[in-house]
Amino acid sequence: MPFSADSTNTFESYQGRHWIDSHCHFDFENFDAHRESHWQLLQNFGCAGLVIPGVKAKQWPKLISLCRDKPWGFALGLHPYFLDQHQEGDLQQLEDSCVEQLSKQTFSEAGLVALGEFGLDLMLEQSTHNLQAELCRQQLLIAEKMNLPVILHIRKAYDEVAAMVRRTGFSQGGVVHGFSGSYQQGMALVDLGFKLGVGGAMSHPRANKLRSTIARLPLSSLVLETDAPDMCPAFWQGPDNSPLSLLLLAQIVASLHDQPLDEAILLSNNNVLSVMPNIKNIISSG
Ligand SMILES: [Zn+2]
Repeated sequence: MPFSADSTNTFESYQGRHWIDSHCHFDFENFDAHRESHWQLLQNFGCAGLVIPGVKAKQWPKLISLCRDKPWGFALGLHPYFLDQHQEGDLQQLEDSCVEQLSKQTFSEAGLVALGEFGLDLMLEQSTHNLQAELCRQQLLIAEKMNLPVILHIRKAYDEVAAMVRRTGFSQGGVVHGFSGSYQQGMALVDLGFKLGVGGAMSHPRANKLRSTIARLPLSSLVLETDAPDMCPAFWQGPDNSPLSLLLLAQIVASLHDQPLDEAILLSNNNVLSVMPNIKNIISSG
């Protein structure tokens, strides 16, 4: 039983707040057995919507169909973790799928909100770095052509990706998910039109440096995210993380900035809206 009743008891005081998880993998099979009941639970605790990123071409059809008639925005992209599963032709399929989804967009759903998640992960094997960088560059170019923001996965490569954004002339902004860089690296990305996704990493007892960076970064630059089912916060009783942990992450950000919880949630929602405008359909109905 991945989500015990105990892990939700502490949330009673949060009921009624409207919040968005700007990055979770609610389409992953971890949620298959209880997705509907868990979504009901999230709504009971004020969840207004989710952003669910794409990771590989084979996953996109399930992702798109799950998001139909739900306040869940999706992104399409080729994640560096799945490099060995990406195939010749996936980039063309990505572009074609974006054109198709944008033409279908209705006013009652968020639909396609971004390209992603993709990026550069220098913690992965060195032999993959060149291919990762090329895939990242190509997806930035597609997003620019489609006028879509991006969701970036970056580890140990903030300066490299910022340079790539400048070189490609990418100007649509987006979210740098799971941000763990320095204040200077964060502000350089903010200057390039990005918001910084903050989540479970800041909850760990030894993450003092990250917490002090997040405390210095302006609230107008931060978006809350869980990355569920991954990135279990330190206080979370796993095995799987849930978008529900966003409320506790919001509490951490609020206390780092000495602001009320509502302010942290409201600013995060507004920041998500400013970089992924298609989310407006779900915010207004939430
Ligand atoms: Zn992710």
